[in-house]
Amino acid sequence: MNRPDLAASDRMAESRVDSVSAQSLYDKCLALAKNVWWSWNPDVVNLFRDLDPIRWRQLDHSPIALLAEFTPERLDMRVQEMVLYSRINHAYRRLKEYFALSQTWAATHAGVLGAKPVAYFSAEFGLHESIPVYSGGLGVLSGDHIKSAGGLGIPLVAVGLFYTQGYFKQQLDAQGYQVEEYIDTKVEDLPMEPALGRDGKQITVVIETRSGRLLAKVWRLQVGRVNLYLLDSNVDGNGTEDRHLTSRLYGGDHRTRVRQELVLGVGGIRALQALGLEPGVYHLNEGHSAFVVLEAIRQRMQNDGVSFDEALREVAHRTVFTTHTPVPAGHDRFDGGLIEEHLGPLRDQLRISYDQLMGLGRVEPQNQSEPFCMTVLALKLSRRANAVSALHGHVTRRMWAHLWPWRVEEEIPIGHITNGVHISSWLAWQMAQLYDKHFEPDWRKRLGEPEVWQAIHQVDPGELWETHYALKNLLLAFIRRRVSRQCRRRGEGDDVVEAARSMFDPSILTIGFARRFATYKRADLILASLDRLDRIVNHAQRPVQIIFAGKAHPADEPGKQLIKRIANLRHDPRFAGRVVFIEDYDINVCRHLVQGVDVWLNSPRRPLEASGTSGQKAVLNGGLNCSVLDGWWAEGYDGRNGFAIGKGSSHVSDAISDQRDAEDLIRVLEERIVPLYYDRDVDGLPRQWVQTMKNSISSLAWRFSADRMVMDYCKTAYLPAAGGLSCDMSVH
Ligand SMILES: *Cc1c(COP(=O)(O)O)cnc(C)c1O
Repeated sequence: MNRPDLAASDRMAESRVDSVSAQSLYDKCLALAKNVWWSWNPDVVNLFRDLDPIRWRQLDHSPIALLAEFTPERLDMRVQEMVLYSRINHAYRRLKEYFALSQTWAATHAGVLGAKPVAYFSAEFGLHESIPVYSGGLGVLSGDHIKSAGGLGIPLVAVGLFYTQGYFKQQLDAQGYQVEEYIDTKVEDLPMEPALGRDGKQITVVIETRSGRLLAKVWRLQVGRVNLYLLDSNVDGNGTEDRHLTSRLYGGDHRTRVRQELVLGVGGIRALQALGLEPGVYHLNEGHSAFVVLEAIRQRMQNDGVSFDEALREVAHRTVFTTHTPVPAGHDRFDGGLIEEHLGPLRDQLRISYDQLMGLGRVEPQNQSEPFCMTVLALKLSRRANAVSALHGHVTRRMWAHLWPWRVEEEIPIGHITNGVHISSWLAWQMAQLYDKHFEPDWRKRLGEPEVWQAIHQVDPGELWETHYALKNLLLAFIRRRVSRQCRRRGEGDDVVEAARSMFDPSILTIGFARRFATYKRADLILASLDRLDRIVNHAQRPVQIIFAGKAHPADEPGKQLIKRIANLRHDPRFAGRVVFIEDYDINVCRHLVQGVDVWLNSPRRPLEASGTSGQKAVLNGGLNCSVLDGWWAEGYDGRNGFAIGKGSSHVSDAISDQRDAEDLIRVLEERIVPLYYDRDVDGLPRQWVQTMKNSISSLAWRFSADRMVMDYCKTAYLPAAGGLSCDMSVH
């Protein structure tokens, strides 16, 4: 009762201080959550997880969704309870430092790019599982590219589309058949904000077509130092159909496709202009964004009063094009009607005829029956074009040789830059700690340098093996969780769910196969003879277990049948508990798999795999590749750093290739992989296997890193493209 009013005001003051500090703590967490940078920094990932491990998993690892469940006060209590203060402050300081860092690779190697950034266009970006605007390999490559470019300090802005429903979620029904589910993404859970124009309002771009106007608003995502702008047609002013135009990735018909690509290319360039950004280089990642060049030419003509031909020459000089698809059907082609409807008004401003425009997208400009091909447009209007591995370079030059009929194949102006992966995004932190202990202190800044990785040979084999074994156990825990959930959802019996909870054995050689289920990737190569597979997986002393995952495109019926066949092996007593299919392959599933498997299997029909990158992710974590000598593995394999299927030849007959490769795969498994894995010393250590892991890491990790890839792009494409015009090598 003594001086109650004072005590009350004391309490009020105290709680005010508390709520101020609670708010500032909350704001720091939110700042961390709003830059995708958090996702490749394990300290920050662990921090978010520790706030609420169960919700973290349920919310698909989205820190913004997680924080939305806390008030500042409750967050503050939780942080006290878990003693997280200093970790949050440390993470926040590191984010600030990352932004302040001026001693980057680009500062010394790419100064000329200066204030004129590279504008990187891609139809999809795979950054993290909580940001579902990607479908697979192409998207993850774009994501890894911009993460590395930012890390190296290269001035770059990225442009893509915002898909409200992203790509589909995959479930298998009781028969093992793929069912696609589209879910609306909650925009408020994404680290995404309206991109504002100089008037302080969200930028909306307008594109005139012959059949009306198409609008798209612009979002901004921060990916480390890089801004990613996503265009979204879900705006007032668009008709219902157009509001859904950018709902789904790779959905819809040709008309949807050309309109999406119009938004990406033409809309993308207009968005950059509205942002006041003037790119020095345009990088088209795959042909989807090739309309970029037409709009860039229009702007050049309008701003500088130059002719179409001159503007074209200048834009082509600044344009870099990367092609990814050795399969002819994989290239977008549109008929003249669709092109005229959508590019007619732009064509008027370019002051070119319908035939001239169509000619830019045709191999034979005069051929009236030839459709308009986005890849042809990109090849004709870029001075620098590249494939994504050495072998893919050969295939691509042959494929497009008819565009340069006067040249011999070796002189077709398409080079190659082999793909790589963003190491921090794919390297398990347990493995990173091992590297911290044994590598040069600055190894994280020099990922693309071979010398850095030689230190793996100094690591104690037992320590490397133990680290790998711990990661494998984490993978198996994940597999059990997922499989028991799959069984429960399908309403299977308690005994089945219970069996799934203890399935798979960490001491057994574990093979992973996960990728898009396109038939040329031959997920079933290993199933060619079930009797032989039975012998291998059920060997009494040296058994093998296999994990499959992957989605088939909704329209790909043969791909779906393949999934069904593999998923249903669990009903075959020979393979139950030895072969498993994990639903809904995404970045999260991929990360678990590549961090924990012993062997990563890749069995495409050569030479159809342009590069492939998942095997590169396995390398970083000590997984060994067993792959057809296609894509990146054709140049990565040296005889001591993994396993090869076949001898690097292709047969004209698919059936014969398939049969030979299937036999060779089984042979390599039985004669090389299994014996090497189970060859143990007195301590139970597979010494030769661990030596192969070391050979793999030291020879491959730096070379197939996105840092090396982006440095190559910078040196051989961006810098020359940003420089002045020199001799003209274009097709004109
Ligand atoms: C890395 C990755 C891919 C690409 O791997 P490939 O080897 O090209 O199949 C596809 N999907 C996801 C989710 C990935 O993380």
